Amino acid sequence: MNDIWIAHDEPERPLAFGAWFCSCDSCTMAAKASVERGDNLSVVLKRNMGRDVISLDKYVELMGNVNINYPFQDYMESSEDTVREIFIADV
Ligand SMILES: [Zn+2]
Repeated sequence: MNDIWIAHDEPERPLAFGAWFCSCDSCTMAAKASVERGDNLSVVLKRNMGRDVISLDKYVELMGNVNINYPFQDYMESSEDTVREIFIADV
């Protein structure tokens, strides 16, 4: 196993620091399963213009919200900003 992996590549592997997410359903399902297990993890949203750390359950909530165009729109500092990477925080 690698120390860095994408959640959809190893869906059974417990999430920990080193796990990256893409926007696919498998990655979101891995996050959801972790929250349901009671894991207390945080996620780093690495943007062009900075970074935010949010709870994993907030991430799952945002990804599951079909009423917004872009899950992370509230975190963007301007129209130029975009999320570059999403991964489990080292805390
Ligand atoms: Zn994925």
